[in-house]
Amino acid sequence: MTNNFVWLDGKIIEKSQAKISALSPSANFGLNVFEGVRCYKAFNNKEINIFRLEDHVARLQMSSKIMCIENNVNESIILDAILSLINANKISEDSYVRIVLLVDDEGSWHQSGPSKMLVTLIPRPRHDIDNLPHYTANVSSWTRIEDNMMPPRVKAGANYINSRYGFLQAKKDGYDLPIFLDRNGKVTESSGSCLFIIRDGTLFTPPLSSSVLESITRSCIFNLAEDLNLPLIERNIDRTELYISDEVFLCGSAVEISPIVSIDQYSIADGLPGSLSCLLLQKYLEIVSNPDQKYSKWVKSVSIL
Ligand code: PMP
Repeated sequence: MTNNFVWLDGKIIEKSQAKISALSPSANFGLNVFEGVRCYKAFNNKEINIFRLEDHVARLQMSSKIMCIENNVNESIILDAILSLINANKISEDSYVRIVLLVDDEGSWHQSGPSKMLVTLIPRPRHDIDNLPHYTANVSSWTRIEDNMMPPRVKAGANYINSRYGFLQAKKDGYDLPIFLDRNGKVTESSGSCLFIIRDGTLFTPPLSSSVLESITRSCIFNLAEDLNLPLIERNIDRTELYISDEVFLCGSAVEISPIVSIDQYSIADGLPGSLSCLLLQKYLEIVSNPDQKYSKWVKSVSIL
């Protein structure tokens, strides 16, 4: 398994040969929109399950629309690119695909096109449920970007500069990850994931209008919570609620479901990954590798033989 080959503008090429113009708005101003999609080895060891591709393509188009980035891509072009990459890189394990729309022409930051698509794939294993990382977080002193400024709903590379400030500060201060508040002091999300708390058996998460990405994994949690008869409420979350929650976890395509064991050095309950968070993760990992009929629409299975 390698990540030597990438897909750029319709062709599989060696990553060292993938070039964009030195005068492009993407190179100079960070103009892009992107998606991160998981590909999981299926339970039968014969297939790779591309997870929720249709939803990622829809969000890529939503981001492009808001950012005014012209493109001609669709799900079948992206699926072909992923299949070619799985073959070229001889992928037979879990991996992570990034799909990036770049404005690659000479021009400035206000240019809308023409765009190019870059698709890359790197090996990335799923969580080992018996050996979960014990993530710590701080409440960042950096405020989350907001809809009328740099809309977090748009998955634009430039939004990750706000994530970067918070993440670097968290690391310097000895934490794994930041949790951002909005300008009113309400909890939003982390640098690359959404957030849930659990209090007395009920899940709470900030609404989609509170400076968060419209996370696809977040939407999976809604289904899983319903299956497990766990009440789930979307509402604003106060900073101090983080400290007194029974469980806190982050969710995202890359981090899957990741329990947080302490925030600002307040231990979350007993300081271990929470039992409901682990149960949700276990169900999630079952679905990604062996979806039942209800969830088969979330998975595109491709043969690796
Ligand atoms: N919020 C941010 C800022 C993210 O970067 C991500 C990762 N894409 C998420 C939330 C989770 O989104 P998803 O579940 O669609 O991967």
